[in-house]
Amino acid sequence: MALVVQKFGGTSVADPQKIKAAAAKAIARHDAGDQVVVVVSAMGHQTDHLVELAGEITPRPNAREMDMLLSTGEQVSVALFAMAIQAAGREAVSLTGAQIGIRTDSRHGKARIKSISTDHVRTLLDGGAIVIAAGFQGIDQHGNITTLGRGGSDTTAVALAAVLGADLCEIYTDVDGIYTTDPRILPAARRLSSIAYDEMLELASLGAGVMHSRSIEFAKKFGVPVMVRSSFKDMPGTMILPADRAKPRPASGVALAKDEARITLESVPDEPGTSHALFSELATAGIAVDMIVQNVGQGGRADISFTVPSDDLHQAVDVSRRVAATLGATGVSHDDAVAKVSVVGVGMAREEGVAGRMFQALADAGINVRMITTSEIKISALVSRADAPAAVAAVHAAFGLETPTSVEAVDAEDHGAKPSPLEVVRRLEGMEDLAIEDCVLDCSQALVTLLDLPDTPGVAADVFAEVARAGLFVDMIVQSHPRDGRAEISFTVPAGDAERATAAARGIAAARGATVADVPHVAKLSITGVGIRSHAGVADRLFQPLTDAGINIDLVNTSEVRLNVIVAAEHGPRALAVLRKAFGLPATGGREASASPA
Ligand code: ASP
Ligand code: MG
Repeated sequence: MALVVQKFGGTSVADPQKIKAAAAKAIARHDAGDQVVVVVSAMGHQTDHLVELAGEITPRPNAREMDMLLSTGEQVSVALFAMAIQAAGREAVSLTGAQIGIRTDSRHGKARIKSISTDHVRTLLDGGAIVIAAGFQGIDQHGNITTLGRGGSDTTAVALAAVLGADLCEIYTDVDGIYTTDPRILPAARRLSSIAYDEMLELASLGAGVMHSRSIEFAKKFGVPVMVRSSFKDMPGTMILPADRAKPRPASGVALAKDEARITLESVPDEPGTSHALFSELATAGIAVDMIVQNVGQGGRADISFTVPSDDLHQAVDVSRRVAATLGATGVSHDDAVAKVSVVGVGMAREEGVAGRMFQALADAGINVRMITTSEIKISALVSRADAPAAVAAVHAAFGLETPTSVEAVDAEDHGAKPSPLEVVRRLEGMEDLAIEDCVLDCSQALVTLLDLPDTPGVAADVFAEVARAGLFVDMIVQSHPRDGRAEISFTVPAGDAERATAAARGIAAARGATVADVPHVAKLSITGVGIRSHAGVADRLFQPLTDAGINIDLVNTSEVRLNVIVAAEHGPRALAVLRKAFGLPATGGREASASPA
């Protein structure tokens, strides 16, 4: 007997017929001998209607009352769902978030789950009932109803699956799974049979948002296998699994974040504390920063570029101008018409030339790359917004993602035993707290920088084609925002390959009027965890302790699941110590002998 959580989204319970059809799915599971918990969203566009209704009363509805109002949508759908099951002659009990005991903090409209009691649900399940749980809602310590944020029923479902130790969490929705890219942008997109939690996390916030990304954070932390499938078609969907269970591919998907804006602080004195000064102010202003790129710079000065959602541009520019003045930067520039294209794949770390393939595809399509950042499983390029659809198509094709064999190879029903929760879970106070897993130091890499490259389409492609020809494994890649028609690209390689890498870089530079700077040994610090992007200001928690310790940051890469910084080799051990302390990790540990090349 298995325990299964089934979640039905708004479109899957949009009318009485659909509720009956969804109920039939729960009944089929139950009749097959499994215990079933159903989580439902509000019917159809009910939540939108309630939001509009409030707007007709007042433009600024009180947050507590808003949650009181919005939670009614799910209260309607759970009751109807339970009735549908009872009408078919089975036992069912509907429960609100409060009745289950879903405890949250008090941040109305975006509450985070702290704990969930399981006693009541278990008693009902053991008594033979199907439990119908209201998604999206909880209760704070004072008994106020809270909601988890739009789309939050996914998070309720996976969190319930986590605390109940469910064998599977099925997300029934109006699409039949996770695709290699958004099929509305690229019809050649294909459904994946499986995808890793980390890939899903990197893709979700990047725009392929089929699921609430906080739900994937729960799944990863607690080891919940999740299946995303269609409510309307009887076919397997996509399994979301730990990286070692999903099919490793150099690329699983291509994501587009099309409404980005770029800001650059020009010629900031290259000394400890500059990043902290900027990103702490942005965090205080509540602005979520996405890509962060700091170049190596020349003459003791470096540019710091970052992207924010377009909507936040004006506020972010105001903050940046203020900070730029205090830091003595020479100027602030911005661009509102950019988009970020990312390729994501847990297998890319084991394959050579992945970055080169992506940049070549963009170059062949005549698309100029404005900025580059990478993580272990993701390469992101900033392009002009007008080029975005062509960029997605080019990259998708370059990785063969439109061919079925590359994406649908595993048997979706057999994924082995249930994954186990992350070690860090035992230390968490609230279920949804930021979970920093580890901070490690890698002293095995060298840094190579090409300065003064011409800013033309294909430069990055040329550089990484040359690097691949030299047989070099590249780990981090950073291209800063080009200025005055010149671009700067930095990358890291194993220190043993430093000479060959520098020689290759010199060759490329000579042909293009560029120069090369190399650092044979650098220290790379990586912080891994869950919730790095969804919790505000985490990147700054990295900058602050380094600033306090007087350690200058040479390069930064940020992603959903990881923060990487490069500092001078001699500062490595001290940087490790201050960061482990800052993130509450035990002082011992965190040393990594060698890098995992990308
Ligand atoms: N009903 C809520 C919303 O529309 C929660 C959900 O559907 O997940 O956002
Ligand atoms: Mg949804």
